Amino acid sequence: MKKLIKNFFIFFVVFLLLAALFSSFSGSDEKIATVGIENMISTLNDGQVSSIVVRGDTLEVTLKDDTRENVRKETGESLSSLLANFNVASDKLADVKISVADESGWDYWLTTIVPFVLPVVLIGVFLFFMMRGLQNANSRAMSFGQSTAKDFRPDAKNRTTFKDVAGSKEAKEELQEIVEFLRFPKKFHELGAKIPRGVLLLGAPGTGKTLLARSVAGEAQVPFFHMSGSEFVEMFVGVGASRVRSLFDKAKHNAPCILFIDEIDAVGRKRGAGLGGSHDEREQTLNQILVEMDGFEPTQNIIVIAATNRPDVLDPALLRPGRFDRRVTIDLPDLNDREAILKVHVQKKPLAKDANLRTIAERTAGFSGADLANLLNEAAILAARNSKKEIVNEDMFEAIEKVMIGPERRSRVITDKEKQITAYHEAGHALVAHYLPNADPVHKISIISRGSAGGYTLKVPAEDRHMHAKSEFIDEIAVLLAGHLVERKIYGEVTTGATSDLRRATEIARRLVTDYGMSDNLGSRTYGEKEEMIFLGREIHEQRNYSEKVAERIDEEISGFIMQGEVKAVAIINEQKNALEKIVAVLLDKETIEREEFEKIVGAKPGANPDPVSAV
Ligand code: ADP
Ligand code: MG
Ligand code: ZN
Repeated sequence: MKKLIKNFFIFFVVFLLLAALFSSFSGSDEKIATVGIENMISTLNDGQVSSIVVRGDTLEVTLKDDTRENVRKETGESLSSLLANFNVASDKLADVKISVADESGWDYWLTTIVPFVLPVVLIGVFLFFMMRGLQNANSRAMSFGQSTAKDFRPDAKNRTTFKDVAGSKEAKEELQEIVEFLRFPKKFHELGAKIPRGVLLLGAPGTGKTLLARSVAGEAQVPFFHMSGSEFVEMFVGVGASRVRSLFDKAKHNAPCILFIDEIDAVGRKRGAGLGGSHDEREQTLNQILVEMDGFEPTQNIIVIAATNRPDVLDPALLRPGRFDRRVTIDLPDLNDREAILKVHVQKKPLAKDANLRTIAERTAGFSGADLANLLNEAAILAARNSKKEIVNEDMFEAIEKVMIGPERRSRVITDKEKQITAYHEAGHALVAHYLPNADPVHKISIISRGSAGGYTLKVPAEDRHMHAKSEFIDEIAVLLAGHLVERKIYGEVTTGATSDLRRATEIARRLVTDYGMSDNLGSRTYGEKEEMIFLGREIHEQRNYSEKVAERIDEEISGFIMQGEVKAVAIINEQKNALEKIVAVLLDKETIEREEFEKIVGAKPGANPDPVSAV
């Protein structure tokens, strides 16, 4: 558009120049007055005219006193008929020399041809440029359907290998097989083994799926084509499918190679799940992927790796044998893996000698690889901000909290009253967490506002756990409610500070009933179907598959679980009133309490039991 305006402007300027040139040309003769026809007739009748030269439509009249006048006549009318019309007596014309001049001079061409030709030429030029612009756009539109895959060559110097991926031992073992397929295909073909076509990497965000896919290519030393699911989908229907085709074509030309489709859930969702019929494009793209995967020969040595963190929404057709039939699940790293990941990422950072990555790993249960990388980066930034040369443990502790809850907001102005309420609230959480055997041990209590939280109590599980019992959930609910309950006990009323605590407690209680089958009254079943639907851009997650009556009972059960938690929490709060006051006093004085000091007040935790790291 800009270009068009620019072109137009240039034409305009050229046109003005030409017009100026043109007018200076035609006006280059001496100044001759142009007079009306009746004027000429009257001079004729007076007998003052000596000659008339007819030059096209112009009559060049020369008077007896040598003055010259121009007269324009109508086009096509001859001089004689003109004179006859005006009844000029023929005797008056006797001594007037009348001649017709030849019209082929410069003047003639300029005056007759240019006005017609110039606009045509200008329009022609204009059109030409416009067409050319269009053609460019066209060729851009043609390449629109091409894949925009980024490819990495195996000879790249900084190629990623399994060494860059810490932990994920099982996943790496599974993928090692893929590497073998790519490196020594013959070995497998000779035995009649079919090489798998598709591998699906499943795992929470940040667990290193993209990293692993890249490292497979690096290990196998084959080209690696990388495209994200969302890149297939454009505004226009059919583009996705044609991009898929071109991506697979590219892969076929470069076999053996790895074709990596990241975030495949963007195109690979269950078909027909969308309401409103706006998903043709996604479906076409998905169909094309399926067609292409069926299409290539098993001997072609192309392995398609796809990654997603939403395996539940994938279309079953994708998971069929012959497509993504290999599935590699990547879990959140456990303690040892976390330490290993930290070691990988700390390599280029100066770490103080007494820094202990093991303790950092211990405090970061539930962190993904990406979180850990982020943590070390934050720690480095903190160290740099304090003009330190090395990263010490404290920097990393601080970074953990920053990654988990958000940055400290010391500047937030809070009144003494608010500070006191926060202290009671957090002390309540900490106290209940401490005395409930199934809650995680308290690591730190703080009333410094951080992220959106007014204060926080940091609890860290003693070990990684993958299964949780009902009693743990009830205790967790009790801990979540504790802040709110203490506020009520001390002040007789509650503040808005507990909103997110209450929401989380309710969510846990709901899960107990609807997902985990932990309600004695409602039995061992789940309620509600987790179905992925997109309606008017909003995801509808749950579909009810139970009656109104059952819905009521679910609500009752949820309230029941909340009640259980509340009773437990209230009992502890009432029992430990002295400890509560002591903790509050220390908090108001120092703002934070670390585990050691906390345990000096309340004693060691009676019988610990773990849960993912959480802050309340
Ligand atoms: P995903 O694709 O699963 O969301 P990524 O592969 O993009 O996650 O990982 C993000 C970053 O996290 C990586 O670039 C890497 O720095 C770090 N990371 C994740 N997992 C690991 C791991 N196992 N070892 C080393 N770094 C990891
Ligand atoms: Mg990724
Ligand atoms: Zn709270």
